[in-house]
Amino acid sequence: MEFKVIRLFVLFVATAKAQVNPEVCRYPLGMTGGQIQDEDISASSYWSESTAAKFGRQLLFHFYFSVSLCGQISLPERSSHCFYLFFFRLDIGGGDGAWCPDIMSEPHGLKEYLQVDLRSLHFITLVGTQGRHADGMGNEFAQRYRIKYSRDGSNWVSWQDRKGQQVIEGNRNAYDVVLKDLEPPIIARYVRFMPVTDHSMIVCMRVELYGCEWLDGLVSYNIPDGQQMIYRDLEVSFNDSVYDGASAEGLTKGLGQLTDGTWGLDDFLHSHIYGVWPGYDYVGWSNRTFPKGYVEMIFDFDHVRNFTSMKVHSSNMFSRGVRVFRQVTCFFRSDSEWEPGPVTFRPTPDRVSQRARFVTVTLGDRTAKTIKCRFHFNDVWMLFSEVAFQSGSAVYNTSIGPGKHPKNTLPVDDPTHKVDDSNTRILIGCLVAIIAILSAIIVIMLWRQVWQKMLEKASRRLLDDDLTARLAIQNRAFSFRHSSLSSDSGSTSNSTYERIYPLCADYQEPSRLIRKLPEFANSTENLKSSSLCTAATASGSDGAPHYAEADIISLQESSDSSITAVNMSPFTGTDPAMREFPREKLSFKEKLGEGQFGEVHLCEAEGMQDFLDEDLSTEEISKSPLLVAVKTLREDANKNARNDFLKEIRIMSRLRDPNIVRLLAVCVDTDLLWMITEYMENGDLNQFLCNLRLNEAPDEDKPEQEEEKGDSISYIKLISMAVQIASGMKYLASLNFVHRDLATRNCLVGKNYTIRIADFGMSRNLYKGDYYRIQGRAVLPIRWMSWESILLGKFTMASDVWAFGVTLWEILTLCKEQPYSQLSDEQVIENTGEFFRDKGKQVYLPKPPCCPDTVYNDLMLTCWRRNAKQRPSFQEMHAQLQESMSA
Ligand code: ADP
Repeated sequence: MEFKVIRLFVLFVATAKAQVNPEVCRYPLGMTGGQIQDEDISASSYWSESTAAKFGRQLLFHFYFSVSLCGQISLPERSSHCFYLFFFRLDIGGGDGAWCPDIMSEPHGLKEYLQVDLRSLHFITLVGTQGRHADGMGNEFAQRYRIKYSRDGSNWVSWQDRKGQQVIEGNRNAYDVVLKDLEPPIIARYVRFMPVTDHSMIVCMRVELYGCEWLDGLVSYNIPDGQQMIYRDLEVSFNDSVYDGASAEGLTKGLGQLTDGTWGLDDFLHSHIYGVWPGYDYVGWSNRTFPKGYVEMIFDFDHVRNFTSMKVHSSNMFSRGVRVFRQVTCFFRSDSEWEPGPVTFRPTPDRVSQRARFVTVTLGDRTAKTIKCRFHFNDVWMLFSEVAFQSGSAVYNTSIGPGKHPKNTLPVDDPTHKVDDSNTRILIGCLVAIIAILSAIIVIMLWRQVWQKMLEKASRRLLDDDLTARLAIQNRAFSFRHSSLSSDSGSTSNSTYERIYPLCADYQEPSRLIRKLPEFANSTENLKSSSLCTAATASGSDGAPHYAEADIISLQESSDSSITAVNMSPFTGTDPAMREFPREKLSFKEKLGEGQFGEVHLCEAEGMQDFLDEDLSTEEISKSPLLVAVKTLREDANKNARNDFLKEIRIMSRLRDPNIVRLLAVCVDTDLLWMITEYMENGDLNQFLCNLRLNEAPDEDKPEQEEEKGDSISYIKLISMAVQIASGMKYLASLNFVHRDLATRNCLVGKNYTIRIADFGMSRNLYKGDYYRIQGRAVLPIRWMSWESILLGKFTMASDVWAFGVTLWEILTLCKEQPYSQLSDEQVIENTGEFFRDKGKQVYLPKPPCCPDTVYNDLMLTCWRRNAKQRPSFQEMHAQLQESMSA
């Protein structure tokens, strides 16, 4: 018996679901658990009695639980801590530890197979393989294998992936489980695993199948061949590319895309699936080749059923001549004759929405084993991506044939499946062992937390002392002492500040910023001579926390509001932007938006002028009352959110640049925390651009007249916005400040297309679709992130440059779609892997139509260079963009 731990990040992939949900339908079908009985596992041959088919069970328990590496046991509200999913693997021997075919009996070993009979039709989404274990002595495994399947035991189909590849990469050693997603999934009762090998090598396999019972009971559908549409010179193929039946004069005796559990997107030119041709998700026909005005489909089922409804997923892109069918007429047959009285159904025509949809056709509890449906055209084209049937459970229970599982139950419930007693004992033993390990881990974590609390208390005492000193001295330079102290207690800051990027301290940006801050510049001379200076300089080493976080530590540690207020006061006294503004002088006008922390409101601020720096006292601003944006922290915010909010305040108060949003004052005298920033009339850049179209024909006679007309914007204006962002980022880069979340959604637009970079708190709400959640671990804007940020957790100026490239792309596409919109989150991560491997397989964002070749090749693409050192600096990009404006 042996324990091994495999640490896996479980990636959540949002794919479309049909009636059978392939995301959920991933239960082990009983090789491991014993629900599949020995007599249902057979093989073409076996090497010896001890490697017979029945030993081909994958012996693995997936047992997982979340462990916080940051010392938190309960999952915090934000994804602030480092949860990993652990899979515990447990191997128990049996026979000689696997099924091994007698490859000598068949010269090339190509026809050897291990066969599993599931006793009823199943929807199989995943397979797992292992090699021969034999208590650690085995060393045989299948590096590659193929799968064959059958629904009736006589017609066998070779499984192939969506690119036509049949061979599956298997194991690299004898003990690890290799899981393979079956894309497309299989609907079958019998499955054969066929190792691909030559006779020089002995192979052994243990296997598991994952999926669920196929409740539709559909065993085949017959349909006419899907056809091809030419749309604006584009060939759009609506063939059923994964159909597994015969294909002479139409498709017969098979299943395919209409039952693969994935439905098509609204726009049939696009697909959830990566790298496929336009129209891939749909099977479709044009009325020009159907003189009778309908398409006939025949559906065969495993046995006679009582049908309540049929759901047909159909496109309704009427702007391209595609509509949901006008009418469907279904005929029913239980034996050889079609019954009289077909069912006719007419969906309500939808001339408004072009969304693809499921149309539910009620079948009135008709009994049948075969259904024939005629779908009548309502436009030139009719496109289907999925068909599903619901039939009454009464039929499920009464019509179980001999040797079949009752439907609607997992194999585990099947009383005919008796689990071997000896195995049960081992299982119980193992579970007890696992529980013991878990308890030990929990105790260790609790102990860590207690220890951490003690550390925090100790460092808080230090900080409190320090703050008292600061109050007394009222000297800016002193804040560096504070920072350095905080950084000295680095373990505290790292452990409590692992929010979005929870990998380890190495990934926190090494801060040398303290020395670059304006206040430091002022007081450098003072500091040089003082002992504090030594501490501050020392804190500039790589081990120091982020410059903003360093100061915030004092705030975050004070979870209780009274301490917060005390801690805030020294800041409000020293930093103009941190000055407390009287709340009663703010009058709320309207809600501007909603962020992670709470709402953002437009307010009039009476007497704000007195709070402004000289550089802000323009004529506009000297009007009273002044319009400002007030960002509020929601009342029920937890400690983490509160700390993040304070962190954003701290960061913003230090930044002074025309292209960085300006913090004017704060209201932190009570539990309700507010920050007051300048009001940006046009909201965030993403929404701003999204509502505009490109003004493609600027008036050549008046080139200087760049006035934008109504809802359009010129290319020059777009580039001028990019120049401003580059300028703001240049400023941040000069401070060694890494933004980590640069995107159009985080830039604000004021009057005259003024842009200011905002969002220093990595907050999100409205745009949560832009962020990717690795289960229990982190929320990341992966579509804007460099490969090294995603894979190594490394955030640098060069990764901000990468994000700038994506932001520039957003601007030049007027934010009409999300970057890599045709890729799922998982595919974006796969693509990141390609950037890392650098084999030329990585996909880049395409050149926006209005983007000149030079800007795309010499600027945008250079932001996405694999080698971070070869990416341009913001200074270079700023100059380059300015130049491109004047060119
Ligand atoms: P969070 O950072 O917490 O997600 P944001 O700061 O992004 O919240 O604010 C949410 C929304 O409020 C923004 O998308 C924007 O539309 C609006 N908003 C925020 N700050 C301002 C501002 N200074 N001026 C105008 N609108 C703003």
